[in-house]
Amino acid sequence: MISIFDLFKIGIGPSSSHTVGPMVAAQQFLQSYREQHDLSNVVSIDIDLYGSLAATGEGHATDTAILLGLLGHTPEYIDTRECANYLRPIMDEQRLALAGEHIIDFDTKTHIHWHPDTVLPYHPNALSIAATTQSGDTYTQTYYSIGGGFVINQDDATHPDTDPASPTIDNPPYPFTNAADLLTMCQSENLSISEVVLANECHYREIETVYRYLDRIWVVMQDCVSAGCQQDGILPGGLSVKRRAKALHEQLLYEASQPDAKDKVGADKLAAMDWVDLYALAVNEENANGGKIVTAPTNGAAGIIPAVLHYYRDFLPNYDIQGVRKFLLTAAAIGSLIKQNASISGAEVGCQGEVGSACAMAAAALAEIMGGSPAQCLNAAEIGIEHNLGLTCDPVAGLVQVPCIERNAMASIKAINAARLAYRGDGQHFVSLDKVIETMKQTGADMLDKYKETARGGLAVYANTHIPTVQHGVSVNYSQC
Ligand code: SF4
Repeated sequence: MISIFDLFKIGIGPSSSHTVGPMVAAQQFLQSYREQHDLSNVVSIDIDLYGSLAATGEGHATDTAILLGLLGHTPEYIDTRECANYLRPIMDEQRLALAGEHIIDFDTKTHIHWHPDTVLPYHPNALSIAATTQSGDTYTQTYYSIGGGFVINQDDATHPDTDPASPTIDNPPYPFTNAADLLTMCQSENLSISEVVLANECHYREIETVYRYLDRIWVVMQDCVSAGCQQDGILPGGLSVKRRAKALHEQLLYEASQPDAKDKVGADKLAAMDWVDLYALAVNEENANGGKIVTAPTNGAAGIIPAVLHYYRDFLPNYDIQGVRKFLLTAAAIGSLIKQNASISGAEVGCQGEVGSACAMAAAALAEIMGGSPAQCLNAAEIGIEHNLGLTCDPVAGLVQVPCIERNAMASIKAINAARLAYRGDGQHFVSLDKVIETMKQTGADMLDKYKETARGGLAVYANTHIPTVQHGVSVNYSQC
């Protein structure tokens, strides 16, 4: 089982694989270099980006994320409002303070190398960082950003005895690698899915530590929705995409304030849907703007779990913090199953792996909160993925904006529907969750590369033919930070 501490990470937008992962890689590079060498001997740094990281890295701020990592910042603790200030010495004076302390010359035009047509063997999201010393020695490390902010280096990727793509909790009390085992265990032990996951997490940590982390995740999600509801204007990158959450929020507040309104819902019986849309838009607009985000399980799909959790908070009668914890634990079980048996990376299997996975996670979690049995929860997850199968990753201009932002709103509604549909049933379903995960993996393998986060197919092509003025490059991302 993959830990909630790995599955839900606090990071920076707009992408977990193209922003958070590369920043983590830069951090790891500094750490490994310092373990073996003296940082003060470095005279130059070169960064090579391969495959999808090069194809859509400009739009995803991959370059600036690596630079921020080399400056010593971490996705979790960086103050996203200060990114432009952090980067200014590099952009204006071509000076990079490695780990914030050792200054070298660095020109983004000559020290960052883009190789969109070169795909390294292990994963389409690859990057290398090389440090050269005064004596001419070069230390190079290659990293793979495998989705959801997970990063592995070349040695791990080629190690024969491990599956580094799926870092797991070793020897948990309730081990499961597929949904069938999970269901059997829940039924034989009379446990809910969230109870199984909690027991496994507590194998390593005190329960208070687990709860503290879950509570923090929920706080960051709520802060993100609040921040998204307060910002309007145009998203960075050159597509001129308008932020919509603030205006929608004001409209919904106004309608809820009318005499015939009941709580947040006005006369319109489906107004809860509008609120769910709002929550997802708010998160994903913050993400597109480089804000603070919880990867859930990725940044591109980061709006779905918060949107459905806010739906639970605002529209279901039994909201409490214990319910939030259960929700996140159950969602983690589904994310773990998908990550271990297929992928949560858009570059590997398309958007079905990002938005589809988040939809399934939220659906199962909501089903449990509603009182669903483990069988009903797994049914909800299965519905959540099944109706996202084949979904391509084709962000226009490589920016996590169109169709990503709206897609999160659509999948949030779908997750709620999946939970309700499953809750009305008896848990029996024609296609098992394991089968649909396997199908997702196979569908992703069959999908042409142009539909897997390369911005070369689908809606992304629209940018090439209709939006000739889309801006790319470090300078754009610099201002977007
Ligand atoms: S299309 Fe889907 S997978 Fe691709 S960047 Fe957007 S949200 Fe992520």
